[in-house]
Amino acid sequence: MKKVKYLIVGQGIAGSLLAVELIRSGSEVHVINYETENTSSNKAAGIYNPITGRKMVKTWLADSLFPNLEPYYKQLELELEAKFLHSKTIYRPFYSNEELNDWAGKAAELSYKPYIKEICTSPSGIVGVQDPYGGLFLNYSGYVDIPTLTISIRKALIDKGSYTNELFDFEQLKINSQVSYKDFGADHVLFCDGPRVGENPYWNYLPFRPVKGEILEIDTSLPTDTIVNRGVFVLPKKGHFSVGSTYDHDNLDYVPSMKGIKNLKDRLRKLYQGDYTVVSESAGVRPATFDRRPFIGSHPNQHRVGLFNGFGTKGVSLVPYFAGQYVNYLKRGGELLAEVDVSRVKI
Ligand SMILES: Cc1cc2nc3c(=O)[nH]c(=O)nc-3n(C[C@H](O)[C@H](O)[C@H](O)COP(=O)(O)OP(=O)(O)OC[C@H]3O[C@@H](n4cnc5c(N)ncnc54)[C@H](O)[C@@H]3O)c2cc1C
Repeated sequence: MKKVKYLIVGQGIAGSLLAVELIRSGSEVHVINYETENTSSNKAAGIYNPITGRKMVKTWLADSLFPNLEPYYKQLELELEAKFLHSKTIYRPFYSNEELNDWAGKAAELSYKPYIKEICTSPSGIVGVQDPYGGLFLNYSGYVDIPTLTISIRKALIDKGSYTNELFDFEQLKINSQVSYKDFGADHVLFCDGPRVGENPYWNYLPFRPVKGEILEIDTSLPTDTIVNRGVFVLPKKGHFSVGSTYDHDNLDYVPSMKGIKNLKDRLRKLYQGDYTVVSESAGVRPATFDRRPFIGSHPNQHRVGLFNGFGTKGVSLVPYFAGQYVNYLKRGGELLAEVDVSRVKI
């Protein structure tokens, strides 16, 4: 029997970075992951963006997350000898003069200043982009190529003999004074199973609210150092541009739909009037929750069973921060933020 401290189920961005943090803290882990194209991490655009939403406000926990985010991924790139962090400014056109004035005021506020790279008080000159009121260039933004990140971490786990590619069989899981699963013994089993959590008998009582998202890949002649983002994002990625995304709570499959693609094209036309050709279409499902906060912590009736999931639309920015917090909780009895603790939902 192989004995480890933590058995991790799932190796999307959540399971990957949790494994990294546990290994860094000196614990032995084994990861069991079912390899398929259809994971949230494989379909994600991977953008990190501190100013989000129609109202353009600082995203939840921005001041804690963003100053540390690029250093975190850069360090991981060095350790793994891989390239997955792509720092790029985000350009957000204003919808009105009021918005321009509002942001001109915010530029002087200490709490917003670090996020603002430049405010354009007139059109930016990016050909085809609809920005009559100017717009905002952001700092602390870009994208992480999540498949390259997870593949690099998988390779490192395989080299250590700490990885198995299989669908976890819940029938084989036994929990007594220890966890046992097939030939493995562990102190804890930690589920990082993303949107498949609905099949997990320990955690399917939680109010997850998975949401499908679709992405269009296009060729066009926009700058490759800027993500244009208002209503829809246009992300220069791997020689093309990714345009996304949609939000559909009803059709939770991985098949691009005519409705979703039309929605993207309509929104793109409002932002950008340049010519483009469609290269491909894709769809994925995000592991979102009823209150848009992750679910992290120990099972109410079984402390050896953990969960690290529910990162919704923001895996890239949330997972590094909460992987550290969860490891501190598991190993040193540290606190979890009440907003993410699974105990906020009663079984
Ligand atoms: C279209 C789209 C666009 C997105 N854009 C962004 C973005 O721009 N920025 C951002 O931050 N986030 C974005 N996201 C969200 C982001 O993808 C998620 O927050 C993140 O990928 C969730 O990662 P995860 O590891 O929890 O889940 P997943 O990536 O789904 O990983 C779960 C893993 O667990 C495995 N697994 C599940 N059940 C089992 C089992 N029983 N046995 C073994 N293995 C199992 C799966 O096979 C998978 O490998 C987007 C998502 C989509 C769909």
